[in-house]
Amino acid sequence: MSRRRQIYEGKAKILYEGPEPGTLIQYFKDDATAFNAQKKGTISGKGVLNNRISEHIFTLLGTIGVPHHFIRRLNMREQLVRQVEIIPLEVVVRNVAAGSLSKRLGIEEGTPLPRTILEYYLKDDSLGDPLVTEEHIAAFGWCGQDELADMQDMAIRINDFLSGLFAGVGIRLVDFKLEFGRLWEDDYARVILADEISPDGCRLWDMASGEKLDKDRFRRDLGGEVEAYQEVARRLGLLPEGSANSVVNLDSARKARDAR
Ligand code: UDP
Repeated sequence: MSRRRQIYEGKAKILYEGPEPGTLIQYFKDDATAFNAQKKGTISGKGVLNNRISEHIFTLLGTIGVPHHFIRRLNMREQLVRQVEIIPLEVVVRNVAAGSLSKRLGIEEGTPLPRTILEYYLKDDSLGDPLVTEEHIAAFGWCGQDELADMQDMAIRINDFLSGLFAGVGIRLVDFKLEFGRLWEDDYARVILADEISPDGCRLWDMASGEKLDKDRFRRDLGGEVEAYQEVARRLGLLPEGSANSVVNLDSARKARDAR
C-alpha cells in the first residue's frame, strides 16, 4: 500500500494526496457496506474491478463531453483524479422501480417508470443520507441553482448514454447514483462528475434472466458478488472472453453459499 498522505477514508475508497497540486489518488478497497454501514463485508477483488469499470465509463463519458474528475488509472487499485470540492448531494437516477423507491412508494420492483426520475440525498452518514427536495437544496444552499441545473442536465445525459451502453451488452440500467464536485478555476467553480460509476452504485440487471449484477447481491445475501462484477466487466470488454463466470455460474455461487 501507498505511503502517500491520506486525505480521507470512505466506505469503499481511500483518497491520497496526488503527485501534483490539485490532484488526488483514489484507491479502491474491497470493503463493502450497505444499509448506512450497518452491514459490512469484503468482496475480494471488487476494488480492482470497480477501478477498471469506472475508468472505462468515465473515459467514455469524456468522449461525449461530460466533464469529470478522472485523469488516468495508475495501477490495479488506484486512479489519478482532479481534486474537487464535493457537493454534499447524491444524485440518484431511476429508470425502473427498485430499492428504496419501491419500498417508500409501494411500487413493485421491476416496474418501468413512466419517466426517468431524479432524486437527491443529502450526504450525511449521521442522518443516514436522507432524501431531500429541490426546495431543501435551495433553502439550505447545499449547491447553487445553476449548479443543480448543471447536475440535472449531466445526470440525464449520463443516463441516456449508459442506458444504451449497457443495453448493448444485455444489461438493464435500473438506477444509479452520481456525485459531483466543484472544480475551482480562479474565482469560478465548474461542476464536474466525481466519485466512481461501478456496480457498487448502480442496479444492473441481466436483460434475459433478470439476474442482479450489482451490489444488491451483497445487500440481499445472494452470493456471487465478485462473479457478478466480473460479468459486468467482461461484457464491457474489459476482461478476456471466457475469463469470468457466466450468469449461470451465479446460480452455482448461490448454491455453494446455501450449502455452507
Ligand atoms: N446508492 C449508492 N449509494 C447510496 C445509496 C444508493 O450508490 O448511499 C445507489 C444504489 O446502488 C442504487 C441507487 O443508488 O443503484 C438507488 O438506491 P436506493 O435509493 O434504492 O437505495 P438502497 O436500496 O440502496 O438503500
